[in-house]
Amino acid sequence: MRCSHCNQEVPGDDAYVHRGETLCEDCYLEAIQRLRVCDPWAVYIATSNREALGLKGTDGLSALQKSIYEFIKCKAKITLEEVMDNFKLSPREMETQFAVLRHCELIRAYKENGKTYLKTFEC
Ligand SMILES: [Zn+2]
Repeated sequence: MRCSHCNQEVPGDDAYVHRGETLCEDCYLEAIQRLRVCDPWAVYIATSNREALGLKGTDGLSALQKSIYEFIKCKAKITLEEVMDNFKLSPREMETQFAVLRHCELIRAYKENGKTYLKTFEC
């Protein structure tokens, strides 16, 4: 199987189907991030607006987003699945929360040995 975006070989169980395309994880994460830029809440909370509003760090986030941030903060290793389990989030809810946190440059995802890990930008 090949990623239809970057044409990289993707093992079957690592492939993501997004809007009818088969994507590798990197391209998938990029795709959902691009998608959410059009989300009114994500735009509202975007870095430029946040700065204009005098918001820093987790200011202006929902209680859930703050909890997710605190949960991930400074953990040595935490997978996307562990965060979803802990907060009882569906993949779709997790995607939305992650998109806002990523957009605010609080949390990012990286991949290691086939698993997706989350970490904060500052740790
Ligand atoms: Zn790709």
